[in-house]
Amino acid sequence: MTARRVRDSHAGGIRLRQVRDLPRIRVAEPVVGMNSDPQQCSRSCTASNTTLFVVNLYAMKRGLSPFISCLVALAINAAAIPAGAQNNNPKPKTTQGTSRKQTQGTTTQAKAKPSPRAVASPPRRSSAEKTTPKGNESLQQRALAIQRRAIVVDTHNDITTPMTNDDFDLGGDPPVPYRTNIERMKKGGLNAIFFSLYIKPWYVKNGGAARRTLDMIDSVYRAVERHPNELMLANSAADIRRAKFQFKIACLMGIEGGHAIENSLPTLREFYRLGVRYMTLTWNNTNDWADARGDNTHNGLTDFGREVVREMNRLGMLVDISHVSDKTMSDVLDVSKAPVIASHSSARALSNVQRNIPDDLLKRIAKNGGVVQVNFYSLFVDQKTVAPQADARGEKLRAQQEALSTKYANDPERLAEESDKLEAQYPLPPLPISKLIDHIDHIVEVAGIDHVGLGPDFDGANDFPQGARDVSMLPNITVELLKRGYSEQDIQKILGGNFLRVFSQAEMVARKMSRTISGGGSTRRINR
Ligand SMILES: [Zn+2]
Repeated sequence: MTARRVRDSHAGGIRLRQVRDLPRIRVAEPVVGMNSDPQQCSRSCTASNTTLFVVNLYAMKRGLSPFISCLVALAINAAAIPAGAQNNNPKPKTTQGTSRKQTQGTTTQAKAKPSPRAVASPPRRSSAEKTTPKGNESLQQRALAIQRRAIVVDTHNDITTPMTNDDFDLGGDPPVPYRTNIERMKKGGLNAIFFSLYIKPWYVKNGGAARRTLDMIDSVYRAVERHPNELMLANSAADIRRAKFQFKIACLMGIEGGHAIENSLPTLREFYRLGVRYMTLTWNNTNDWADARGDNTHNGLTDFGREVVREMNRLGMLVDISHVSDKTMSDVLDVSKAPVIASHSSARALSNVQRNIPDDLLKRIAKNGGVVQVNFYSLFVDQKTVAPQADARGEKLRAQQEALSTKYANDPERLAEESDKLEAQYPLPPLPISKLIDHIDHIVEVAGIDHVGLGPDFDGANDFPQGARDVSMLPNITVELLKRGYSEQDIQKILGGNFLRVFSQAEMVARKMSRTISGGGSTRRINR
C-alpha cells in the first residue's frame, strides 16, 4: 500500500483517492481484455485462435479435471508459441538499452539517443502519434497473445484490506474506492497476485500487529476457499506455474511492514509456515531494527535486522526493500545471500520521491540478481506534476480529514476507510501511461531487462495513469511495450518472468542453507 497512507511522501499534503467510478472508466479507457468476446477478435487473430481457446477454457473449466486441463494447456501452448506475435517483430534480443529520447519534464536525463529496442522495432511512433485503427487492433491482438503465453505477476495489491475489514468477496464488485476482483484479474490476464498484508503503524503503538497479520492471512485463505475453481493458494514459483496450467490465479501473500513480526524470529517463521513469501522490511515507519525511507534512526539495519534478513534467506522468504531507507537497502544488499525484490517501487531518477530507487541502488540490485517491480501510483511516476496537485487537494480537504482523524482516533481501519471515501471524490488529472512506461525503460537502461517487473500497488494508492488504473488494464502495459519495440521475450520477463526467476533462486538459496523451517534458525527476540 502506498498512496492511501503516503501523506508524508511529498510536501506535507494530505493525499486523496480518485473517484472509483468504474463503469465510467470502462467507457473512457478502452482496455485490452483477456476474456473478451471471441467475436471481437475475429479479423486478425487467426494465429491466436488456439490460445483464445485456452482463455475460453478458463471460463469453462469447472467441469474439467485439473489433470486434463493441464494436458490441454501444454498442447495448446506448444502449438501456439511459434505462431505468435513475436514473428511480426523479429527484433534481435537487445537487453541493455541506451537512453531513449527526450523524457517528459521530470528530473532526469535530456539524452536523446535512440534505443536499440526502438531501432529494431517496426517504424517507431512517438507516443503522441496516433496509430491507425487497424494498426492499433493488430497491436492489441499481439499484446493479448503475448499476455496469454506469459506468466503475469502482480507483486503488490492491497485489496486485502477490505477483504479483512469488510469480508469483501473477490467474486463480487469491489466497494468504492477499491478496484480488484476476480473478474478483473482474469480480464487483465493475471496469473499470480501477492495480497499485501499491510499492517498500519498504529498496531505498533497499540499492540496487535501480529494478530492483525493473522487476520489478513485468514482473509486470503477465505477467498481461496470461496473460489476454488478460480483461485489457488501458492507457496512457490512452481505453484505459480502449476496455477497457470490449471487456469487458476495463484494467490500469494507478502507482509508490508516488518513490525508485523513483533521483533521475533519465531513469529517470522510462523508467518512463513502460513504461506507468507515476502516481507517488506518496513512500511513508512522505522521499526526497532530497520530504517524506513528518509529516516536514519539506526543507520540502516541493526544487528537484529541483519539477522532477520539472514533468517528470511534461510526460509526462502523474499526480502523486500520497498519502503526502506537507502542505507537499509544498501545494508540488505550487503547481507542477503538471495536476490531481493522491491515489490512496489519505481525509479527515483524520473520521480524524485524517497520511495523510489536511485540509480546506484538499481545497479546494485541488478548485481544482486534481484528485481524492481514498478509502482504505478501517479506520485511515484511523476512527482513534479502530481505533488502540487495532491498538495492542493490535501489542503482543500484538510479540515474534513482532521475531523475524521478525531472521530476515529481509536479505529485506524475505519479511519482509513472513511478517509479514502472522502478522497475518492476528488480525483487528480490522470497522467499519460507513457510516463509509467518510461520507468520500465529507465530501469532496463540502468539495471537491465532482467531486473524489472510490475508491482502496481492497486488498491493501495489513489491516483494512477490513464489506462493503468486497475488490474484488468494490465494488457495495456504490453501494448505500450510493443509500441516501444520490446520483444516478446523481454515483455514476458517484465510481466512476471523476472520475478519468477528471483523467487526460484531465493528458494534454491534456502534449500542450500537449511532443510527445515525451524532447524538451526535463531530464536532471537527483542523483548521490550
Ligand atoms: Zn506500500
